[in-house]
Amino acid sequence: MTSPHDHDYDDNFVDSLGRSLRDLRISVTDRCNFRCQYCMPKEIFGPKFEFLRREEIMSFEEITRIAKLSANLGVTKFRLTGGEPLLRADIHKLVGKLHTIPDVEIALTTNGTLLKNYAQLLAESGLNRVTVSLDSLDDQTFRQMNDVDFPVETVLEGIEAADHFGLGPIKINAVVRDGVNDHTLLDLAEYFRGTSHIVRFIEYMDVGNSNGWILDEVLPSSHVLSRIGKVFPLEKLPSNYSGEVASRYRYKDGAGEIGLISSITAPFCGSCTRARLSADGKFFTCLFASNGTDILKEIRSGVTDRYLIEMLKSIWVRRDDQYSELRTKHTQLPPEEKKIEMSYIGG
Ligand code: SAM
Ligand code: SF4
Ligand code: SF4
Repeated sequence: MTSPHDHDYDDNFVDSLGRSLRDLRISVTDRCNFRCQYCMPKEIFGPKFEFLRREEIMSFEEITRIAKLSANLGVTKFRLTGGEPLLRADIHKLVGKLHTIPDVEIALTTNGTLLKNYAQLLAESGLNRVTVSLDSLDDQTFRQMNDVDFPVETVLEGIEAADHFGLGPIKINAVVRDGVNDHTLLDLAEYFRGTSHIVRFIEYMDVGNSNGWILDEVLPSSHVLSRIGKVFPLEKLPSNYSGEVASRYRYKDGAGEIGLISSITAPFCGSCTRARLSADGKFFTCLFASNGTDILKEIRSGVTDRYLIEMLKSIWVRRDDQYSELRTKHTQLPPEEKKIEMSYIGG
């Protein structure tokens, strides 16, 4: 196998819309202990749902090989996701393996349920940052949204543990559904005001085909901004880096910042440098794709690194995805095709 950066590979190529490949989101499992209605509604992801079988899922060695090759192609950031990534046994060992790749950042997105137990191991294994999804601080609303009656307190303890072991500042992701949790947004902002953690309010997206998404439940980020800004005045901040998906705002009194992720009302396809790897090793170039390329099948058939590199590169240079921008331009949804589910591909 090759060692990253010790190579003659080209990492300067772009897709058909001029975008580089810089981020790889790696789903390590399609299973989850929550049933958030906007992601894995119980009616579909019930006891009869067939999740991926053990042998269909990439091993840590297979993931690490793809990650190393993608680093050769210019990827500088890995994000472990799922399903719920902390349900994957020994996930910290994967972090340890990825940590051997030079010059990359390793992040993880979790629902926080198991974070208290894992924070120390993850930090010691080389995880750089963690994002915790938390849609409401109101226990009743939270239990209703995760739909497994899970209490908010445990997630807050997870956030504290992650901070304690050096994984902060932590990003807190809250999906906003009008009429479901919008009455609790201010509490969430207020709770993390005065800390270095950043609450990011996400517009509810039409990912997959099973969440019954309707535009009426999307609360535009501009409304979130004005509701919070009325109580705690805010001002815009410049992006930290090009391609950052969240727009940043700081409290004028210096009590920290919040983020808004507006994939519905202000899509950011033009700067999208993200590729995604499903838990069964398929490579997708867009969150809203219908099909991915089966990299794991190639790996298991014994192909060389050089072959894989050329394959990934040729997929990327043909990439023309801009689903969210097209959705907005047409002010309607693109023709209904079967899309992959968020729990399969990771957020
Ligand atoms: N289970 C982990 C978690 O919830 O953090 C990781 C996977 S989850 C699919 C990744 C992110 O996608 C979460 O922050 C979640 O809130 C977000 N998400 C899931 N479905 C969504 C939707 N329909 N619209 C917007 N965000 C969504
Ligand atoms: Fe699970 Fe995360 Fe989807 Fe909720 S958003 S069901 S926690 S994968
Ligand atoms: Fe990237 Fe596809 Fe999302 Fe656009 S819709 S930002 S191309 S993942």
